[in-house]
Amino acid sequence: VEPQPTARHRLRRALSFEVIPPRSEKQAARLPGLLKFLDSLSPDYLAVTSSANSGWLQGTADFIADITATTSLRPLAHLTCTAGTEAELLPWIDHLLGVGVRGFLAVRGDFPAGESNLPPEHLRHADALVQLLRRVETDNVACLAAGRLGIGVAAYPSGHPESTGPEEDLDVLAAKQRNGADFAITQLFFDPNAYARLRRRAEHAGITIPLIPGILPITDVRRLHTMGRLSGLAVPDHLIARFDHAGDAAAARRIGLEITAEHTAAILDQGADGLHFYTFNDLSTTEELLTALDDKGVSVSSFPPPPPPRRWPPST
Ligand code: FAD
Repeated sequence: VEPQPTARHRLRRALSFEVIPPRSEKQAARLPGLLKFLDSLSPDYLAVTSSANSGWLQGTADFIADITATTSLRPLAHLTCTAGTEAELLPWIDHLLGVGVRGFLAVRGDFPAGESNLPPEHLRHADALVQLLRRVETDNVACLAAGRLGIGVAAYPSGHPESTGPEEDLDVLAAKQRNGADFAITQLFFDPNAYARLRRRAEHAGITIPLIPGILPITDVRRLHTMGRLSGLAVPDHLIARFDHAGDAAAARRIGLEITAEHTAAILDQGADGLHFYTFNDLSTTEELLTALDDKGVSVSSFPPPPPPRRWPPST
């Protein structure tokens, strides 16, 4: 008997990128080139982060307005519990819907430097944010007219640093799915097998939403250590050792992107549901990484293009 395809097998591979709202005019001036390049790849969506450093949701919304005015990219707005109380978030959600956002990434948010907790009146966790977005969807006239929102959440192949272990990570992911998440993007990770393990465990736990691996380009040893800090993971010695004989910065960059491309190809071999690239707003690194991936026989331009966008509000 032929095995029946699961919902996951029927999915086409998704392609997406993450960008950060510019923090200065100088940074903003460099963005049109990056956006034009990403637009040429027809990704499923462009995720726009939100944080204190880039003006919270004002920064996210302003950048999204620029993106939709100048490209055909579909923005996915990051929404964080750290950005405000439920009452403060609601008008921002409406505003983002008004500028054409049809998708959100619901995350708790990184704590601002020196803080280790949320103010008491904020939603505590991302699952509550998913619930809030699904509630808004049924109340907001623009949503009712334009159709279902796409809601993503975060997943952790190597575990969330505050969690008690893989069981808690899975329980939390299951809660996010139950509350209405459509897909998850993973935190960066160093071991492709960790992604395969997450997929296997998730499947056993009844989690069927796509788990899209987040790919962060390694450009030098310093970036590796930054990745370790961001993810709360120890950087494997064998990765650091690969840079031992890099004579200069250009050689280190080549080695780093080669490692990233190997890692990405291995994750795709594990059956990844797509690829999500953290760009750090860096055009040349993104281009070089995609070239290194091409050299490994992985061409993101061969991913099937997404269906045509459904714009809201409709253009006049
Ligand atoms: P949660 O799901 O709330 O989990 C946080 C911790 O609480 C975990 O240990 C979890 O096990 C536990 N937990 C979760 N739910 C419950 C519950 N109901 N009861 C008890 N415990 C619970 N940060 C930003 O500030 N801005 C961004 O734009 C941003 N974008 C990101 C994009 C991606 C793809 C990823 C992976 C992360 C991003 N982050 C961003 C970082 C993210 O905010 C941090 O990783 C944060 O520490 C956790 O976010 P979360 O949504 O996973 O939180």
